[in-house]
Amino acid sequence: MSDNSTKCKWYTGKKFDNCHKNIINDSIYCKSHEYAGDYTDEQKSKKKYCTSCKKVKCFLDDSKTCGCANERVTKLNNKRKEDNKINIEKKNEQKEKQELEKQKLVEEQDYKVCKSCDQARPSSSFIGSRKEETTNCQICRDRQKEKDAKRTTTRNWAEEYKKNPELYKKKLEYNRNNGKNTKI
Ligand SMILES: [Zn+2]
Ligand SMILES: [Zn+2]
Ligand SMILES: [Zn+2]
Repeated sequence: MSDNSTKCKWYTGKKFDNCHKNIINDSIYCKSHEYAGDYTDEQKSKKKYCTSCKKVKCFLDDSKTCGCANERVTKLNNKRKEDNKINIEKKNEQKEKQELEKQKLVEEQDYKVCKSCDQARPSSSFIGSRKEETTNCQICRDRQKEKDAKRTTTRNWAEEYKKNPELYKKKLEYNRNNGKNTKI
């Protein structure tokens, strides 16, 4: 015969199966059924299965759930609000720090703030190919160049070949010389 005295006296599932978990100190219930300790005997005799939290609980007869859904939503909302607040604070702090660092660089080390990425970069980063002063830093200008280059490679070649048969001939020849198929 097995000793059930250390097993939880609450129930699980729609059929009120006996819970097989071990009790926690000073209780006749397990950790997940601790709440049952608050019920009166009368409440216990009217226990119901909550379709939301899937636990056997005591709640109003005309209700399908024990109120857990509302609790969960409120808890989640509060947590989300709290997280948001912390995130915003952190972000603001970070922004302030960055702003100060930027200012320091500009004031003390001949840095400039890029109009595009809003970062402080050395003045040498703001000199264009024709030695002109630029408002965007080298990194942003390189990035832009790359973008432009990509745009050229996705031009509508079919259209261009139609308008310019000479170009098409050259392309054919180029591809033949390089062992490629010509796709248009
Ligand atoms: Zn239990
Ligand atoms: Zn519930
Ligand atoms: Zn930049």
